[in-house]
Parts: sequence; structure tokens; C-alpha cells
Amino acid sequence: MQKIEPIADFDRITPTAAITLGTHGFRAKCLQRLVRLDLPVPVTVALPATTVRAIATGHPVDCAAILADFGPTPLVSVRPSPENSDWGGPATVLNIGMNAARHAALARIHGEEAADAIYLGFIQSYAIHVARLDPETFDTDGTSSEALRAALHAWQEEMDEPFPQDPARQLSEVLRSMARAWEGTTARLLRQAKGAPAEARLGLVVQEMAQDLGQGISGSGVIQFVDPATGAPQVTGRFFNRSRAWHGKAETLYLTRDPRGPSLEERAPEIFAALCRHGSVCRARLREEMQIEFTIEDSRLAVLDAVKVQRSSRAGLRIAVALAEDQIITRAEALLRVEPRALSELLHPQVDPRGRRDRFARGIPASPGAAVGRIVFSSQAAQASAARGEPCILVRRETSPEDIRGMNCAAGVLTERGGVTSHAAVIARGLGLPCVVGASEIRLDARERRLVAPDGRIFREGDLITVDGTAGEALAGEAAMLAPALDSCFRKLLSWADEMRDIGVRANADTPADALVARQFEAQGIGLCRTEHMFFTDDRLVVMREMIFADSATDRAAALARLLPMQRADFVQLFEIMQGHPVCIRLLDPPLHEFLPHSREGMLELAEALDRPLSEVTRRVEAMAEFNPMLGMRGVRLGVTIPEIYDMQAQAIFEATLEVAGRGDPVVPEIMIPLVSARREVELVKTRIDAVAAAVHTKYGRDFAYRLGVMVETPRAALRAGEIAQHASFLSFGTNDLTQMTYGLSRDDAGRFMSTYVQSGVFPEDPFHILDVDGVGELLLIGAERGRRTRPDLVVSICGEHGGDPESIEFCRRAGFDYVSCSPYRVPLARLAAAHLAI
Ligand code: PEP
Ligand code: MG
Repeated sequence: MQKIEPIADFDRITPTAAITLGTHGFRAKCLQRLVRLDLPVPVTVALPATTVRAIATGHPVDCAAILADFGPTPLVSVRPSPENSDWGGPATVLNIGMNAARHAALARIHGEEAADAIYLGFIQSYAIHVARLDPETFDTDGTSSEALRAALHAWQEEMDEPFPQDPARQLSEVLRSMARAWEGTTARLLRQAKGAPAEARLGLVVQEMAQDLGQGISGSGVIQFVDPATGAPQVTGRFFNRSRAWHGKAETLYLTRDPRGPSLEERAPEIFAALCRHGSVCRARLREEMQIEFTIEDSRLAVLDAVKVQRSSRAGLRIAVALAEDQIITRAEALLRVEPRALSELLHPQVDPRGRRDRFARGIPASPGAAVGRIVFSSQAAQASAARGEPCILVRRETSPEDIRGMNCAAGVLTERGGVTSHAAVIARGLGLPCVVGASEIRLDARERRLVAPDGRIFREGDLITVDGTAGEALAGEAAMLAPALDSCFRKLLSWADEMRDIGVRANADTPADALVARQFEAQGIGLCRTEHMFFTDDRLVVMREMIFADSATDRAAALARLLPMQRADFVQLFEIMQGHPVCIRLLDPPLHEFLPHSREGMLELAEALDRPLSEVTRRVEAMAEFNPMLGMRGVRLGVTIPEIYDMQAQAIFEATLEVAGRGDPVVPEIMIPLVSARREVELVKTRIDAVAAAVHTKYGRDFAYRLGVMVETPRAALRAGEIAQHASFLSFGTNDLTQMTYGLSRDDAGRFMSTYVQSGVFPEDPFHILDVDGVGELLLIGAERGRRTRPDLVVSICGEHGGDPESIEFCRRAGFDYVSCSPYRVPLARLAAAHLAI
């Protein structure tokens, strides 16, 4: 048989060794930087990912050669070093090399008890992590010497051999188990949830142990210089003082002076000062906030490792801004360090404390923020819900790694079991999902797909609930929400984003409340105001219905005259909130029967309100029904058939313009015609709107400007954009309808088969969610190009749901669009994503 040569591909970390992030991982690279900065780092050897991969497949490694770097009686640790520190990795193993001889030597220097404890700790971690023996077998009580004897005995019993004494064999087993752990399914799923690619690899570092024992000050600790939750400057960490450990009690010291007890700063001021110096050298030279892991052996400081400070999204943003303000990194770098999608975590709405709280369960607040969604009881259902674009709350007894995909798709998570470090809690925090765990009073009946609350109420799949991860409560229905507070760092970073980006960002806002959020997030205007939402309040609905039922032009005019002041007041409010920023108002779009009742009771009410016989109301409602309402009398077709509606809306817009112009910033309203498919439609509507403008001008004797544009939502409008642009100063792509019509795919019914379609790879993604750049995208390019050929100053934008998606923004920017418009909460994300593209 051919002899397999053991691998000897590893490098001692020196300032000049060829260590790279890609080959040896973040930890090896970082340790080399610390060595270059002259920090007191113990001897370290780095194993590249190729070596670790080979070890995982069973290839032997030359451990004797590795250990040759550590002197005749090596004592080392092994730590994981993947390419990205966020990807986790197997647990560190300490004190490899411990054996009877080393135990005796340590006992002579530090005493029996200390030596016993170190040897016992090593045997336990070796037995559990390396030999994969039952942890309970090694869970020993009694004095450390009894426990050590018991552990050695347990090993002999379990393995039929004495505990291995050869450091090279110990190291080889540790390396093998860590290399294999990386390849396990759980580890893979966990790191993939953190964005690791399928082929992510692991490097390992072997480091000389610095013992935290001695007569002088000795111990181990970690220190960092920012608060991990907020990112504010603050010394944080701990120091476990063992200087008297083996003669008295070990104690945890505060790092800085603290009235509650002794601190490292008082006990060892020079060492504390050295740590602070190392911290600022790391910050300045590694251009990052680092957490330093250190030991002190008899007053001698060793820096074992430094890792990027773990941080919440809020802290990440603050740290990036502070580094840029201290000119350690550029503003562009600070922007790139913040993931646009991570902003949504900062923007998590909270439950409004002034609103009604219909609590049905209490649990542990595991991940902050609140979310509303429909109940799903399985990860598959969560994925299907996401494919339909419907927010859902994943309700589980507890979660396991198989649920990660489902959690990724949920708006919030509620579990019956678990604590703050349960799988659900840890993963939800990582994903920034509001989460409540340990809601033990609820009863889950997964088979019946129902949840029984302690008060007996039953909730079924599809029921709407709110998860309040800040308070640790689950509420029935949709709770009133509060926009999150945005601090000055958030505003500063986004103001830098605004300086860099070269595509505008507006918000889709239908109501004054939406407009306020849009302004708070500094949208550059409203890109789509869907006016139909203004007619759905009770008082207006009655008048709207009167208008729809009017038998004569006079009756219709009377109803519209009553709607006029209401619409005018809406627009005045919007213009005032937007303070001179552009407001693009879409004329009425939905089919009129959407304003009519569908139930018998509703019809009866309507008959009473209109003082007409029920039979007549029923007949007329039925007569207005359409087989395919999305393709029926809606949008501009309404405007052409019943032009008085658009006349009224235009009059309200112009009068509101004049009203606010007298008070503050001038407004140039933009009026948008929906669902156009032919040039003549635009001509007809434009002629009437120009006439209304002229009439308002004559009536008030005052000038005002306005712009008229077209919403491109039908494939024909995109194809004929050249001639349509003759009458339009802007085109805005309504990619919701355009996707519907391009695919011939109903927006309202596609959910039934969308998940099957996505799962079977017919569509790569739900095209209502992620813009179909190949098909719908081509229509966008054609429309923009043909429109601009007619009118070079044509303003082009997108206002479908895709407008807030980073990939769609990239597409629109490349196509030279002027702006994107998205829901108000996505505005910050869009501003940052747009800046990333321009850097
Ligand atoms: C669209 O169709 O993309 C659009 C923005 O309009 P709505 O969603 O109101 O149909
Ligand atoms: Mg539309």
C-alpha cells in the first residue's frame, strides 16, 4: 500500500509570512496584523483552509512538525479561522499538550489544585468535543483532584485505553474533530444564514498557551472600547483575576474604576493603560473596533487574539460613522460597511403604547421590535407566505436548524419553549427579527394547525397577530405601531449617502401619516400617491357611492362637488407636510365597484343611505361586476368614460396648490394617469386637465405650474412610450401591474401556485417581489429609451413595490432612471443602497 505523506502545509505567523484572508482566514490574518503592530502575541501557527479540508477528508497532518514551533513541552490552543468572523466555527480547544508530565511540572510551580483544574478542563473538553463522549460522564463533582481521577478513569472505561499522553496525537485529534465539525449540516446552515457561501472554508490557528496563573497579577479577560448594543465609546469587558485563585478565591474584576468593587485599572494601572494603548493602535491601524482577548501571567500581558467587536446593527452604524469622523476610514467606506438591509433592523417599528393591546400570551423578549403578520405553523408555510409577499409570524414549539429558512422568510417569531439563548432567540437576533420565546402558557396543536391561548381563544393558520419582541408579548390582530426613533448617527450616515448617490429616492405615500414617515426618512418627494385610499373613509364612501349611482350628469356633479373640498383638504395636508418637495398624485385607478358593498347587509345599508329600493341597488351593483376587473374599467378608462371624476381631482389638486402657495413653499404638483395603453387616452385626459387648470387660473387670477405624466403599467404603454411621451413630461413604471400584464399573471391569485413555481425553478423568484429584469426589465428599458428619444428631458422613474429593492435600484440606475419610489419604511434602505452603487 502506498504510504500517505502527512501534510506539512502551515505557517508560523511572523510579520512577513504569506498569510492571507482567503487562504488562512480572518483570525490568522488578524493575528499577523497584531504581530506587525508589535503587540505581545504568543507564538502562533496558521493552518490554511486547504490543509484543514484535507484533514476533514482523513488526510494525516504532521503535528510533530507543527509542535516543533512551541518548544520541548508544548501547550497550545486551537481556534477557528474562517474567512469571515461572522460565520462562526467550532469551539476553541485549550491546553492541548496536557499530560501527566506537564501536570506534575505545573503542580510544582502553581500548586496541585491549579494543575488538577487545568488537566481536568482539558480532559473534559477533549472527551466531549473531540472524542464526542457523553458530557454527563465527565460532569464531575468533588475536589479537583478527585474529579481529575474520576475523569481519567471514565476515559479509560469508555475508550478502553488510558488518556492519550502524546501532544502530537492530541493535536491531530483536535484538528480532525474541528475540521469535521465545520462540515456538519448544522454548522453549514447556521453560517449560510449569516451569508456564507456554500463553499465557505475554515482555517485554524494553533497558539502557545499563555497561562493565567502566577504570584503577581494573573488572569484572563476581554476588553473592548465601545458598547456592543449602541456603539457608544465605553470600556466594556471583564477580567477574571486568578492571582490568588489557588490560595484563595478567584474574582472577577471590573476593568475601569467602579464604586461596586475592585478594578483592573486600580490593581494594575500600567497593564490597563497598555491595553487601552493596544486598543487605540488596533482601532487606528486595523481601522476597526476590536475586542482584545488577553491574559496576564505574573504581571506579563499577552494578547491572544483580537476580533471585530460583535455589534448590533445600531452599534455597527455608529462605529462606522465614528471611524469616518475620526478620519480613520473614508465616508465611502463607512457607507459600504453598513448593509442596506441591516437598516431595516434599526427601523423596526414598535407597538404604540397608546394603542389597544389585546395580549393573548406572554413570553421572553428575545429580539426587539414588533411585527404584524399572519400565523404560520411551519417553515414551509412561512416560505410560501413570503413567496406571496404576505408577512407572516412563524409560531413553533421551538425552532431547530431546519427552521432557519422559514425564519428567514418570517416577519416575526413566537415559540412556546426556549430562553434568551435558545435557537430561535439567537437566530432571530442574528436576522433582526422581532421574536418572543418561552410563551409557555400557549398550547400548540400543530396537527390541527391551531394555537390555544391561556384564556381559551383559538388562533388558526392565517389569523393576524402582532409579535412584540421588545415587551415579550403576543397580541391578537394588528396592533398600532410607532416609527422607531432615528438618532443623529443614522441621519449623518444617510446624509453622506445622499451626497454620493446619483439616483433620486421618493416615497409612495397615500395619507398624511405616510407622508410624515416619508419626510422623517427624508424622501425627496412622493413618487406615488394612490388617491383611491382617500375615498375609503365612511363619510366619503357614502358620497362616492352617490356619485357612482348618479342617474344624471347633474346628480353626479352634485356628488363630486361634495367630494371636491375633501380631496382639496387631503392635498393641502400632503403639500404642507412635503414642504415644497414634489408630490406625484395618481388619478383614480380602481374599478368603481371596489367602492360598492358586496354583502346583502351592505347593500341594504346602501339602499337606505341612497333612499332607493334594495332590488335596484342589488341590480346595479351586479351590473357593475366584471369578469376580470384588473383588465376592466379602471385607470384611465374611467377617466375617459366618466371624465368628471378626474376633473374634480384635478381641480382639487390645483386649488390646494394655490392654497399652500400663499402660505409657504411653492408646490409644483405632478398628476399621473394610471393604466394607459394608448396615446389618445393621454390626449383626451390632458385636454380636460389643461382646461380645468385654465378655469382655476381664471377663477383665482393666479398662476401656478403643474406637470402631467403617465404611469406605464401595460406592456403596450412601454412599447408605445415614444408617442405617449409627446403628451407626458414624466413616465413612472408601475411594475406591479406591468409584471401582472407581462406575465399574464394575476397579482391576486398567483399566490396559489407561486411557491410551487419558485420551488420547481420555473421562476427564479416571485416576480412581484424581485423585478424580472429579463422580461419586465426589458420593457422598462424599451419604454425609457423610446420615451426619451421623443423627449430628452423626460423624467423616468419606478413606483411599483420593486422600487425599494437594492437589485431593482441597481437596474434602474443603470438604465438612467431619475428616481425610485418605494414604501416610506424602505426609503433609508434605498438611499443607502443607491449610495453603494455610486461608490
Ligand atoms: C403598480 O401597478 O406598480 C402600481 C404602483 O400601482 P398599484 O400597485 O396601485 O396598482
Ligand atoms: Mg398599478
